[in-house]
Amino acid sequence: MLLQIVTLTRPGHPLGDPKEHTVSTNQKKIILSEQDMPKVWYNIAADLAVPLDPPLHPATGQPLGPTDLEPLFPRALIQQEMSAERHIEIPHEVRQVLHSWRPSPLIRATALERHLDTPAKIYFKLEGVSPSGSHKSNTAVAQAFYNHAEGIRRITTETGAGQWGSALSQAGAVFGLEVKIFMVRGSYEQKPYRKLLMETYGGTVVPSPSRETLAGRRILAAHPDSPGSLGIAISEAVEEALGRDDTHYALGSVLNHVLLHQTIIGQEAMKQLEIAGDDPDVIIGCHGGGSNFAGLAFPFLGAHLRGGKRRRIVAVEPASCPTLTKGVYDYDFGDTAGMTPLTKMYTLGHDFVPPSIHAGGLRYHGAAPIVSKLLNLGLIEAQSAGQVACFEAAVQFARTEGFLPAPESSHAVKAAIDEALAAKAEGKERVILFNLSGHGHFDLSAYDSYFRGTLGDVDFEPASIQHALAALPMASRG
Ligand SMILES: *Cc1c(COP(=O)(O)O)cnc(C)c1O
Repeated sequence: MLLQIVTLTRPGHPLGDPKEHTVSTNQKKIILSEQDMPKVWYNIAADLAVPLDPPLHPATGQPLGPTDLEPLFPRALIQQEMSAERHIEIPHEVRQVLHSWRPSPLIRATALERHLDTPAKIYFKLEGVSPSGSHKSNTAVAQAFYNHAEGIRRITTETGAGQWGSALSQAGAVFGLEVKIFMVRGSYEQKPYRKLLMETYGGTVVPSPSRETLAGRRILAAHPDSPGSLGIAISEAVEEALGRDDTHYALGSVLNHVLLHQTIIGQEAMKQLEIAGDDPDVIIGCHGGGSNFAGLAFPFLGAHLRGGKRRRIVAVEPASCPTLTKGVYDYDFGDTAGMTPLTKMYTLGHDFVPPSIHAGGLRYHGAAPIVSKLLNLGLIEAQSAGQVACFEAAVQFARTEGFLPAPESSHAVKAAIDEALAAKAEGKERVILFNLSGHGHFDLSAYDSYFRGTLGDVDFEPASIQHALAALPMASRG
């Protein structure tokens, strides 16, 4: 393939030597230079015409003040959580660490396009190149940095499939923080190598529900065989952080500041597509709590909100845990025990325990408040997909493009393929951009189940959430 060198000159830039901003593209892969890594995070709250609904205190139901969160998070992150500034500078120390894998490549899936015989162009952002193998490292580094900077020594967290725990353990090792991870028991048993990776980075991993916390013991008393859930693991991690002065809590998705840290993905993709000379018509991300989706989509959506082109923006979630497509939009707890603030979001109810599907990172009862707001306003779309169809798409992708998608990311692959086939049926060109949020090297046993035909589609039981929705905190308040 022909290699062209494209130079971006910056008129008037004091270091205007074009070589400094050299990027190469051979149509297949577009790489930015280190200097082109974004220097700010983009905060979409600045461009929304309506204010976000405030988070409420779990005990009083009153809007939360910044000091309410101080037992859990460093002040810098609380400020970011509540900020309305459009751009927030990325600290030098964070950029230094991110540089070891960023900017990440943008790749055009030419082999997949040929295989599908589609007139559509398909681009994907490769986030599996981080040390932990997913986009989660983008926020893990920032969160570990701010905690370290404010004198914190330990962080507790939860992890589903293990990507977030791996990312935070690695970032903790960089900044000298002890990291304790409550890992959803179902995944702990399914993914021993993820646990070993966390331990290799120096993290401590406990299967959740555990006997170490009140929240865990309560669940075990009622359900001794509980496979756990993200909501339960969050309760355990929050409980431990609240009980110790030297310990904070960190969350790998959902919160405003986490989405903010991920916007580096979309900012890079915008520059890369500009170099490629393409403008996406549809932007796709898989959706668990909303962070990789938001990270890719928000910079593009922000441009639209400021008067630019409108693009279709699609979040894809598992059919077995259909928060955005079947949930209700209301205030709910982020965890099972009701210790976190109440946030307005699409939710299946905080005591909904999703079935153990392989895309563990997508099994969350709630969604990011910002993503929820955008969906409610009709600015984005949501779809759901069954896991068998997602693995089928992931295998098609691996056999053409070579990269093995994480089971979570396979939901985005599936939607991108569907878009490309729709373009073919309509005989129309279309530029598709999706986020390949992580690699699936630790998920081969799930691929094995798919190949053996033992991977089923787990039906979503509408009845199973009736009970959970009846327990919505605001419903009981009348
Ligand atoms: C955690 C994870 C997800 C889901 O989380 P979001 O916050 O919705 O991005 C998706 N893909 C991968 C690879 C993950 O590790």
